[in-house]
Amino acid sequence: RRVLHGEARRGRPKARSAAAALRRLNSAVQYVPYRGALGPRSALRLVRQYDIVADCSDNVPTRYLVSDACVLAGKPLVSGSALRLEGQLVVYNYRGGPCYRCLFPQPPPPDTVTNCADGGVLGVVTGIIGCMQALEVLKIASGMGSSLNQCMLMFDALEGRFRNIKLRPKKPDCAVCGDNPSVTCLQDYEAFCGSSATDKCRALQLLPSEDRISVQRYKELLDEQVPHVLLDVRPQVEVDICRLEHAVHIPLRKLEEKDEESLQYLQKRICEERQKTDDQTSLPVYVVCKLGNDSQKAVKILQELPAKEFGSVLAKDITRGLMAWAAKIDSTFPQY
Ligand SMILES: [Zn+2]
Repeated sequence: RRVLHGEARRGRPKARSAAAALRRLNSAVQYVPYRGALGPRSALRLVRQYDIVADCSDNVPTRYLVSDACVLAGKPLVSGSALRLEGQLVVYNYRGGPCYRCLFPQPPPPDTVTNCADGGVLGVVTGIIGCMQALEVLKIASGMGSSLNQCMLMFDALEGRFRNIKLRPKKPDCAVCGDNPSVTCLQDYEAFCGSSATDKCRALQLLPSEDRISVQRYKELLDEQVPHVLLDVRPQVEVDICRLEHAVHIPLRKLEEKDEESLQYLQKRICEERQKTDDQTSLPVYVVCKLGNDSQKAVKILQELPAKEFGSVLAKDITRGLMAWAAKIDSTFPQY
């Protein structure tokens, strides 16, 4: 759907903007925009009115909601998704094939999900997946049928490659489409997934409040020239966009891998900073990322580093990250 929106309709509701773009392409079709988020109260009523559903959503709770609604209403679901430089396309609940829950009975832990707001997606990739999604809808509508109920189409934009991988068949014990379903009406999907049905500002709370500081408090510490290390754990591409000059940069992935070179570098910087103080108390390491999610994961890793090599370190996360810094401390700092 992303390719349907242009600068001229900036600020308009996406459903209306998409309908306007499509109307321009083909005015003989009737387009009905529905404003507002799809929820368990409205989904089934809506899905029942149509023969085919295309899921172009960007978050896990909505994927479960749409899939369950399609199973309960007996409608095929053409489901497209894209993240960064990769896209996927599947047709669920179609001609004896599996539903979304057959393949993913349990939602992923919320802190492992990378959404488009965090991970980014190239508009072209969503456009390619969206066009192929439209093709599958047309094939089903015209009776030609789709074979993507048995396999998943995967697109790798970097390699310029499409692949098909075979899907597991429908599960007889699936909670919604199985022989004895336990899901017979729509539920609270945000509670089920432990995350909100949006790709925006998904704020995790992995650390207790004493392990976090606000951007305002960090600014005070900077002004007071309190010795510390500021660790930026964003990927290199984001650091290239903007950074705080004094930050040490080690991507979260390197910390998770316990990358030796990165840890030695961190150890060196902690040592250097510690020499500026003869204080025997713990040296603070403040961790920052874009929104304050990855930084919390990094703090957890730092808290488990061996004291033998790193000495006593007090790791804290800067709540809501550099985007809070841009909003509250430095209005010239780029927001992206
Ligand atoms: Zn199923």
